[in-house]
Amino acid sequence: MNLYAIKFGESSLFAKYIYRDIKSDEKMQISWSYYLAQYNNKTILFDVGFRDQIIAEKWGITLINIEDEINHLTNLNQIDVIFITHSHFDHIDNLDLFRDSLIIISYDEYMNVINNGKPSTRERLLKENVITVKNEFLFDNKFKFKVIGGHSIGSSVIYFEENDKSYVITGDECYNCSNLIGNRPIGVYSNTEKNESFISDALQNEYIPLPCHDLNLFNKYKKISSNIVQII
Ligand SMILES: [Zn+2]
Repeated sequence: MNLYAIKFGESSLFAKYIYRDIKSDEKMQISWSYYLAQYNNKTILFDVGFRDQIIAEKWGITLINIEDEINHLTNLNQIDVIFITHSHFDHIDNLDLFRDSLIIISYDEYMNVINNGKPSTRERLLKENVITVKNEFLFDNKFKFKVIGGHSIGSSVIYFEENDKSYVITGDECYNCSNLIGNRPIGVYSNTEKNESFISDALQNEYIPLPCHDLNLFNKYKKISSNIVQII
């Protein structure tokens, strides 16, 4: 398997959103990113990012043009499978770009898009090739998609093993590796107990966290190009 982290933006964010135990108004620099895997002759995305300049400006995000960098890895028109961790804009809004991929999403996040989502995302989810998950779903005997519901109503994570190590793609159940490693729950939640128990369980089982907003990841792992690192 190859697994890459792809950074499509950077900004600062209130540290109290990232860590529930912070009360001050200090800010932290974060990445906006998602993951791409090549496994068993399939290309898989874990979240898809967004591209709306107006939303980017509202959040103070500098969007990065990563198309050329991704084209060196894969053809974005041929993504077989997409896991969606939750339906916040930065994780799902580009979904309309992927017409033929199989989409795996929790039932609650799916319903949230159907009822309140952006029209283009809703339209895409109403097409075929969508699996909705109420608890957990094992894909290709490798990736265990599990609904946690700590960050948002149906927020989910993906567990897998590779080379005798255990990994978890956390969505925003962790913003940062140190949420998991330091056992520090997130500051933006719909159910903080569910977030707490996800974090303590993953810590106890020594999962390596792969979050979507940790800028340090891009120094920690092997650089493939300016905004892409190879995890596996
Ligand atoms: Zn996010």
